[in-house]
Amino acid sequence: MDESGRDALLLSVGPDLPWLCGYEAMPLERLTMMVLTPESATLVVPRLEAPRVVEHPDLFALRPWSETEDPIGIVAGLVGAGRRVAIGDKTWARFLVELMVAAPELTVSRATEITGPLREVKDAHEIAALQAAGAAVDRIAAELQVGAIPLVGRTEAEVSADLSRRILAEGHHRVNFAIVAAGENAASPHHEPGDRVIAAGEGVLCDFGGTMLDEYGVGYCSDITRCVWTGEPSTEASEVYAILRRAHGAAVRSVAVGASCESIDRAARRVIEEAGLGELFIHRTGHGMGVEEHEDPYIVEGNAAPIRVGHCFSIEPGIYLPERFGFRLEDCVIATVAGADPLTSVEADLVSVTG
Ligand code: ZN
Ligand code: ZN
Ligand code: ZN
Repeated sequence: MDESGRDALLLSVGPDLPWLCGYEAMPLERLTMMVLTPESATLVVPRLEAPRVVEHPDLFALRPWSETEDPIGIVAGLVGAGRRVAIGDKTWARFLVELMVAAPELTVSRATEITGPLREVKDAHEIAALQAAGAAVDRIAAELQVGAIPLVGRTEAEVSADLSRRILAEGHHRVNFAIVAAGENAASPHHEPGDRVIAAGEGVLCDFGGTMLDEYGVGYCSDITRCVWTGEPSTEASEVYAILRRAHGAAVRSVAVGASCESIDRAARRVIEEAGLGELFIHRTGHGMGVEEHEDPYIVEGNAAPIRVGHCFSIEPGIYLPERFGFRLEDCVIATVAGADPLTSVEADLVSVTG
């Protein structure tokens, strides 16, 4: 906050607050807001929500407000007049608007400027939490590859529900997504699983992950993509997948402390471009992951920021042939002095499954 010239950090709904203090604000019309200044930290919380807060008097004070009080006025009072505040990106607009009306002299910026660089570097405890979540989805991907998750004759939505049940059974607190895209649907990277029945002799793309709570009740995410083929893949499909696998491997090997984020994107893209399929890789190579499934650092052209020890991000190149089929291969990795340490390591080939 000192470096960015901010007097107060205001955190409400969204991931910054639980990351900082273990408490996730209820997305309610009643305001919950942490007011953090260099002198004090106060969690302003609706009185009826206060019993849910695990108190840390050494870290922050609690300021419960009752139904007839004005929480915006309480926050404005804690911040003080004429201050420069950074407010959480996911704070509801109504609270920011009300605060700016109540305290028109405030200067406002995004909290991500402060929390982003801190959150993107994971400490040992966070890495352990991410590894636990990653190991869970790794096991589910292995079940997919040995045919323990039936595909042929089921709809994408049924398989998605099956994956979701397994994500919870493996200890996640919630499911963030379970994309199942069969055949031509896999050419759409964020396909919504639907009534399409999976047939024999086609590709099935599964991209899934959830949030697992650590012992403080802070959630850390998992994210993996594997593709399988129901039967033997065509020569064309095998060739396209081989290119994708090489691109993924090149990107993983390019991870080095000090290398730019965009250099990792280029490492993957170069392989696909040299194979003549560059036009079919239509998204960035990866995203950071932590308490949010997508956060800094983004592995994309234009991001010259260097990789640092403790960065956690996905490597997920894809090749999409419109109206035909598509493949993506995704592992999340931790950046270490020795290179990329993957959170998932299940077979990365295009596995052929029956049933
Ligand atoms: Zn995605
Ligand atoms: Zn991802
Ligand atoms: Zn994913």
